[in-house]
Amino acid sequence: METYPIPMVPGPTAVPPEVLAVYRKNYGSADLEPEFLTLYHQTEQKLQQILGTKNRVVIQTGEGMLSLWSALKSTLRPGDRVLAVATGVFGYGIAEMAASIGAEVRTIGLPYNETIADLADVERAIVDFQPKMITAVHCETPSGTLNPLAALGALKHKYDVPLFYADVVASAGGAPVLADDWHIDLCLGGSQKCLSAPPSMSFLAVSDRAWDIIHAVDYVGYDALKPFFTAPEEHYFPYTPNWHGVAALNAGADLLLSEGLAASFARHESVAEMCRRGLTELGIALYPAPDAVPSPTVTAALVPEGVAWADFGARLRAHGLAVGGSYGPLAGKVFRLGHMGTQADETLVRRALDVLQTVLHNLR
Ligand SMILES: *Cc1c(COP(=O)(O)O)cnc(C)c1O
Repeated sequence: METYPIPMVPGPTAVPPEVLAVYRKNYGSADLEPEFLTLYHQTEQKLQQILGTKNRVVIQTGEGMLSLWSALKSTLRPGDRVLAVATGVFGYGIAEMAASIGAEVRTIGLPYNETIADLADVERAIVDFQPKMITAVHCETPSGTLNPLAALGALKHKYDVPLFYADVVASAGGAPVLADDWHIDLCLGGSQKCLSAPPSMSFLAVSDRAWDIIHAVDYVGYDALKPFFTAPEEHYFPYTPNWHGVAALNAGADLLLSEGLAASFARHESVAEMCRRGLTELGIALYPAPDAVPSPTVTAALVPEGVAWADFGARLRAHGLAVGGSYGPLAGKVFRLGHMGTQADETLVRRALDVLQTVLHNLR
């Protein structure tokens, strides 16, 4: 299939030529060649910068969801208490995932169009429930929102909660992520969002405390984190690593770091602002509540009245614009423009807004 000329789906993002070139090369065996280890370590260092951490970064084969599952399964035992702070599809989803592996989960939930603000309830729950882990999502992609995580991390630190698990899959590289300053023990990312690489890899920064817990839990499975404690030093991975995928991740990280992280964040902010302003001018209502923090990487808006999402999405695609719908309770009601990584581009958003204007005009 040819790609749409105006790709604005919030992941997988359009893969730029520099990243595609390394993904399509032939490599030898990642299990045998020392060049793979060099690449792995270089990529790890770049991801440390993007995640704002000195902690070791595990790079696994499989999309972002893999890091979400592997971090839970490697650190939780049945009966462990998890405090899930949820403001959207992923936040509530992580609570369900933890419950499915036997954790006792308490959820502090907000409506899907809100972001974390007042932490009084969370603080009370920490004192009362004594969780082993707090979970939260930075960018709630389906809602187009960005949860502030610093204050939550400060509470984790104040009460010495063993683990802070944070999904930064859709923000890392497009918005500041400061895993160490925010006391994040498991900081989870994926390849196909702001890093503009194919949907094949996930990565996560793991704190020393999390490694201790990983060793104590001793979870065994294809998605287990424990083997990665020694794998890069001993060149003995639990399965053949995906050299292509690591090379693409490295190239995607290179693009962001050579632009400069501050410049990347500013680009994402200004494109997002332009997108929100443009939609508003077209009479399209933004989904996040006025007091919520909108994400610089994705904008969620309401499907216009009088047209079904399937029809609306198809009309946009007929004009070459691919956007995302949404999930869970937002399915059919919310559509999304993903301006992350290569797609955080003013020209692209301008063209997307032009198509939206044409399609709205034809509807009215
Ligand atoms: C994309 C994304 C993931 C990972 O989902 P995949 O389907 O594996 O790409 C996890 N969390 C958030 C917030 C995401 O946007």
